[in-house]
Amino acid sequence: MIILEPCPKCGGKAKLRRGLPNLGNSKERFAMVQCLTCNYKTPTIKPKGGESNESLKNRVIELWNQEPR
Ligand SMILES: [Zn+2]
Repeated sequence: MIILEPCPKCGGKAKLRRGLPNLGNSKERFAMVQCLTCNYKTPTIKPKGGESNESLKNRVIELWNQEPR
């Protein structure tokens, strides 16, 4: 279980956003993390090849957590 760190800009609560996680078409899937307070967000990332939703989620959370605080 990976924990989302607070927003690097304002310390606000972050939310994971994912697109169409239950559809099989990988072209439609994406993930990003966005701050609920200031709307600061990671780039939107897409699955590589047949990457699982779980792996996609973990990658975007790592991206968010690596932001300098
Ligand atoms: Zn923020």
